[in-house]
Amino acid sequence: MNTRLMVEGITRRFGGRVVVQDLSLSVKAGQVTCLLGPSGCGKSTTLRMIAGVETPDTGRITIDGAEMFGPGVNLPPEARGVGLIFQDFALFPHLTVAGNVGFGLSGDRGVRARRVGELLEKVNLSGFGDKHPHELSGGEQQRVALARALAPRPRVMLMDEPFSGLDNRLRDGIRDSTLDVLKEEGAAVLLVTHEPDEAMRMADQIALMRDGRIVQQGAPYNVYNAPVDKAAAAFFSDINVIRGVSKGALTDTPFGAFLTPGQVDGAAVDIVIRPQHLKIDFDRAGRGPNPTAVEGTPARGVVQRARYLGRESLVEFRMEYDGSVLTTSVPGVFLPKPGTALWLMIRRDRCFVFPAA
Ligand code: ADP
Ligand code: MG
Repeated sequence: MNTRLMVEGITRRFGGRVVVQDLSLSVKAGQVTCLLGPSGCGKSTTLRMIAGVETPDTGRITIDGAEMFGPGVNLPPEARGVGLIFQDFALFPHLTVAGNVGFGLSGDRGVRARRVGELLEKVNLSGFGDKHPHELSGGEQQRVALARALAPRPRVMLMDEPFSGLDNRLRDGIRDSTLDVLKEEGAAVLLVTHEPDEAMRMADQIALMRDGRIVQQGAPYNVYNAPVDKAAAAFFSDINVIRGVSKGALTDTPFGAFLTPGQVDGAAVDIVIRPQHLKIDFDRAGRGPNPTAVEGTPARGVVQRARYLGRESLVEFRMEYDGSVLTTSVPGVFLPKPGTALWLMIRRDRCFVFPAA
């Protein structure tokens, strides 16, 4: 598949403050890349520069190899072949649904009407053509905005938090049907979100952003399971941190020794583990301190609090070895009484090792 959108080293300053710094990314046709990061990290500014409504200080932006922005080149938004969807759908209130969807279309009336009909069908709004935006639910308005943005067959679809104005209950369904339509239309999609779950659900590629930079880029599986640093790990879920000191490529902890090759001798090391990979050891017999065993040595903690969240239960332990708190997540219902002492283990193949910050 060919690279459709290519962004190379764009930087943007506002009043001397760097908001987007040397940012590069690419999106292939038919693929969804999620630009994921906390509020204020520069996601919208990046999207706006690609759309052409904001001008980078430096860098280069190409679509299908043609320069949109670069030294001496700055095409206006309407010449870039991009579609835009923002959080507040921004439908034209005085136009009907069909009028909104057909707004950006040129050419023969019959051709336009056919394209509008085709898109309304795709977003499941056939029969809504004569209604006005105020007669529609939030989810329906979102679908009109999607159809309108896709109508002129944009090569690149830019979406800025397009689901955040929607009712939580409807969101997953709308995300999935939006994804189906986007894939069918085959545009390269760059979707901005601050919600890791949304990125995991929608993205072929996640570009994780922090302080104006992309800190990690890859398939959702890789970004989740091989985070580049502690903050990248913590962006996707709560994390537990066990600190030790590296010695001869091993780090001793209350959970046994961890293989920590590449860490500086004598340096503090953080072993990071997500709650679902910190296991309660219901069968402690016969386990020794084997540094390479997947589940290592158990350590004992006392239940502080247990909560049932529906799909899983969260259990907080105060650890006997130093009084720190670790959290496990157990599928289904598991609600031990506070004060219960249990043994915990860390799955060696599920922990991340970072130099302590
Ligand atoms: P995000 O979409 O990730 O929440 P933005 O790209 O909207 O972040 O903003 C990044 C930073 O740039 C914020 O601190 C914001 O206040 C600042 N910013 C955005 N646009 C402007 C502007 N036109 N002038 C000055 N500062 C801006
Ligand atoms: Mg934003």
